Amino acid sequence: MTNDVHEVFAVRYAHHDRQSPENFLFGDPHDILQPLAYFVWAIVGPHGTFVVDTGFDAAMARKRGRVIVKPIADGLKSIGIQADAVQDIIVTHLHYDHCGNHDVFPQARYHLQDTEIAYSTGRYMCHPVIRIPFEVDDVVAMVRKVFAGRVVFHDGTEQIAPGITVHKIGGHSKGLQSIRVKTRRGHVVLASDATHLYAHINEGRVCPVTYNVGDVLEGYTTIKKLADSLDHIIPGHDPQVLERYPAAAPGLENLVVRLDVDPKK
Ligand SMILES: [Zn+2]
Ligand SMILES: [Zn+2]
Repeated sequence: MTNDVHEVFAVRYAHHDRQSPENFLFGDPHDILQPLAYFVWAIVGPHGTFVVDTGFDAAMARKRGRVIVKPIADGLKSIGIQADAVQDIIVTHLHYDHCGNHDVFPQARYHLQDTEIAYSTGRYMCHPVIRIPFEVDDVVAMVRKVFAGRVVFHDGTEQIAPGITVHKIGGHSKGLQSIRVKTRRGHVVLASDATHLYAHINEGRVCPVTYNVGDVLEGYTTIKKLADSLDHIIPGHDPQVLERYPAAAPGLENLVVRLDVDPKK
């Protein structure tokens, strides 16, 4: 059966230079430049196109001091995906860098974990420290989509389509979900912020933006079980992804890479 095998792409849309101590709970003794890349992902297969996360726009980039390298609609268009025709978005969590661009996908329904909407609209948002990675306009936009009948809720592990499942990981954000996709090279896990960088999961270290440290660490174990190998785990913000995987087409180097083919040796 091949009707559950998908192509998977990482589409880079923004960049942020920062020093390594900012990326780790308890800091980093090396204090080196360790930038973050910002991605959305696309899963393309026999059941249609599934876009994972919706990034942020130019106004949010200015507000947060990030640099847009290519607006998400343009990045998706470069691999033949028309944003206004996309039917399904999987939202990994409601941090500002994963759920902006509210009107770019007018036809889409949004797949979200129950826990994430409860977390982002509930008591924990009374605390300024917890609110830092959230934007009220993003959360309100998602609530409006709930009332418009455009949100599909999931609780834990569920199948989105044959070969595509979502898995609640929590930890970094209380209702964070990762996505497991069957590809021709085996099962790839789009971890999103379940591991920001390869260093987090490979070294058992934790991003400072965290709801629950224990769940982050347990999440690493879960992701490793879901993926066919460590090479099948795709971190949410690591620029190395752009070097390890081939460009989706000539001219897309450092912008869009294929994740359903083996990494370069
Ligand atoms: Zn996040
Ligand atoms: Zn993020």
